[in-house]
Amino acid sequence: LQVLEVNRNLLIKNDEQARRNRSLFKSRGVLAVNVLASPGAGKTALLERTLADLCGRHPAAVVVGDLATDHDGRRLRRSGAAVVQLTTGTVCHLEAEMVARAVEQLPLDGLRLLFIENVGNLVCPAGYDLGEGLRVVLLSVTEGEDKPLKYPKIFKSADAVVVTKTDLAGPAGFDAAAARGAIESVAPQAEVFWLSARTGEGLGPWYAYLERRLGHGAG
Ligand code: MG
Ligand code: ZN
Repeated sequence: LQVLEVNRNLLIKNDEQARRNRSLFKSRGVLAVNVLASPGAGKTALLERTLADLCGRHPAAVVVGDLATDHDGRRLRRSGAAVVQLTTGTVCHLEAEMVARAVEQLPLDGLRLLFIENVGNLVCPAGYDLGEGLRVVLLSVTEGEDKPLKYPKIFKSADAVVVTKTDLAGPAGFDAAAARGAIESVAPQAEVFWLSARTGEGLGPWYAYLERRLGHGAG
């Protein structure tokens, strides 16, 4: 019971910080995008490609969380965007407080897009609001069509679901109809995108979606 109580208080504190983050982003006109997925689903690859293609028109920065290493931060920095790498040690999700501290290191003036690459994990990141304006959950074709059914909480909280690595659908034996059905049954609220960051297939609608959301004044 005491453990439950502690967890509840931590989540309440997290929600308070998330509200402060959200109003900061709103006041600065920054669209913050929380990117969630299991390890290896292609979060960093999607962000690399998105930054390369959008950064010129919409100044962007990234906060990237990993348990260990700064490999992803170094990859993303090649785009020219400002990147803050967080290494969380044993903490398997990002918290609003970590994002607030990371954002202090970023130039917010003129910034339009802030991507937050969460720790690869489909479980507890679902419970931590970071103050984002958009929550995007990735599902790669190499993972299996039933991921949304197995991890409903995170998919239910998604504004958008992005099916990644579509160029590998054939070799992976991916059942697109089953995946579509699973996403629709668990996350009917989500906009769904199918794309390959490697070949560029399907990126247009994803960029149009981000730009539409930017047009809504962020937040
Ligand atoms: Mg990554
Ligand atoms: Zn966690």
